[in-house]
Amino acid sequence: MSIVPESDRPNPYSAYGAHGSVLVLNSGSSSLKYQLVNPVGGEAIAAGTVERIGESGSSTGIVTHTFAGNRTRRELEVPDHGEALRLALGMFDEIGPRLADAGIYAVGHRVVHGGAEFSGPVVVDDDVVDRIEALVPLAPLHNPANVQGIRVARELLGDVPHVAVFDTAFFQALPAEAYTYAIDREIAREHDVRRYGFHGTSHQYVAGKVARVLGRRVQDLNTIVLHLGNGASASAVRGGVPVDTSMGMTPLEGLVMGTRSGDIDPAVVFHLARNAGMSIDELDTLLNKRSGMLGLSGVNDFRELRQLIDDGDDDAALAFDVYVHRLTKYVGAYAALLGRVDVIAFTAGVGENDAAVRAAVCAGLENFGIAVDADRNAARGGERIISPDWAKTLVMVVPTMEELAIARQCVEAVDGREPTAAVTTG
Ligand code: ADP
Repeated sequence: MSIVPESDRPNPYSAYGAHGSVLVLNSGSSSLKYQLVNPVGGEAIAAGTVERIGESGSSTGIVTHTFAGNRTRRELEVPDHGEALRLALGMFDEIGPRLADAGIYAVGHRVVHGGAEFSGPVVVDDDVVDRIEALVPLAPLHNPANVQGIRVARELLGDVPHVAVFDTAFFQALPAEAYTYAIDREIAREHDVRRYGFHGTSHQYVAGKVARVLGRRVQDLNTIVLHLGNGASASAVRGGVPVDTSMGMTPLEGLVMGTRSGDIDPAVVFHLARNAGMSIDELDTLLNKRSGMLGLSGVNDFRELRQLIDDGDDDAALAFDVYVHRLTKYVGAYAALLGRVDVIAFTAGVGENDAAVRAAVCAGLENFGIAVDADRNAARGGERIISPDWAKTLVMVVPTMEELAIARQCVEAVDGREPTAAVTTG
C-alpha cells in the first residue's frame, strides 16, 4: 500500500472557493492560542500565543506572534482574557496580516466539553454560550476559560459568525457499552457520569486523513489512532465511526500522559483522602498536574526524558516503560474490539516525533501482523508509513492539524453544510 501523492489527491475544499480565513481560538485558563487558517489551502497564515494571563506580581504575560516566517515576542501585562485577545488582534494589525485584509470569515472556538448535547460544531449565539457554561461542572478545569474566550471574542469581533467546535463531539457516536461506566445507573444519570472522550477533532481528522493519503474510503478502514501529545488518548475507529476511546468523563482517564496519571484504581483516591489527609482539590491537582511522566520522572517533555534515560536515570527509564506498557495494552484491547486493524496512526507531539516510543509500542507484536521498520521509523517528514511491507497492519505517522480541522468545521457550520466524512476530515 502506498501513499497517494499530494497532487493526485482530490481536494474537497476547492468547492469552498473564496472563504477567506478562519481565526481559530483555543482559550485555556491562563493562555490563549490563536491561528489564522486558510480553510481551503490548509496553511496557517499567522499564529500566536498569549501566556500567563492573569498572573500578577513580578511575572508578566508573554505574547508571541508568527507571521511570514518571523516570530515576534513581547512581555506585557495581561490581566484577563479580554486583554489577551485585544493584544493578539493588535499584533495582527501591527505585524500582519492586517485584520481588514485577512478576510476573516468566521471565528472558531475550541471547546473542551460539549457533554451529551453537542455532537458537531454549532454557530454560537447567547443560548449556546449558556449551554456551554452549564457544562462547567463536567469540565471545571476547561470550560470556564472556553466560555470566557467566546464572550470576549464575540465582543471584539462582533461582525463575523462564531462557531464552537467540541473536543467531545466526534465521540458522541460511541456505542453505549463503550461510554457507560458500571456504576449505579440512577446516580450516573442524575450527574451525567459517563465517558465522553476528548481530542475528538484530532482523532476524526487523523482517521480521515489516513484514508485520503491511502486513496481509500474512510468507511472501509479500521484504524487505531494514538494521539500522543502532552495530553494523550487512543481511539478505535471502525469505518470512520469511533467504537472506543481512552479518555472518559474528563481527560484524566486512559493513557499515561505528560502530567496526568491516566487509568488508576479509583480507590487510590479514597486511600489518599483517608490516610494522607488530602482534599478533593489536592487529589485533583495530584492526578491531573503532578502525575504521569512528570510525577514518575520529574519531566513531562519526552526530549528531556530521553536525555535523562541516556544519562542512566532509573526513574526516567521506568516512566518510559510504564508509558509504553499502557499504550501497548490499549493497542491490544482496540485490536480485539475492531477484529481487524488496517492502520495504527501515531500523531501529536510525541507520536509524530518520538521514534523510540513508536518502536517500543509495536515491539513484539509481529504475531499480530504489527511491526515497525527501523529505517522508515527513523525517517522524518509528513504523513508516512513506517511498517515493513510484509506487515498486515500499516503503522503510520500522520501529523494532526487540529486548527485546520476546526477551521473547516466552522465553514461547514456557517454554510449549514452537512459534514461529510470526506469534507470534515480531508
Ligand atoms: P499538547 O497539544 O497536548 O500541548 P503537543 O501535541 O504539542 O501537546 O505535544 C507536546 C509534547 O510533544 C511535548 O511535551 C514533548 O513531550 C513532545 N515532543 C515535542 N517535540 C518532540 C520531539 N522532537 N521529540 C520527542 N518528543 C517531542
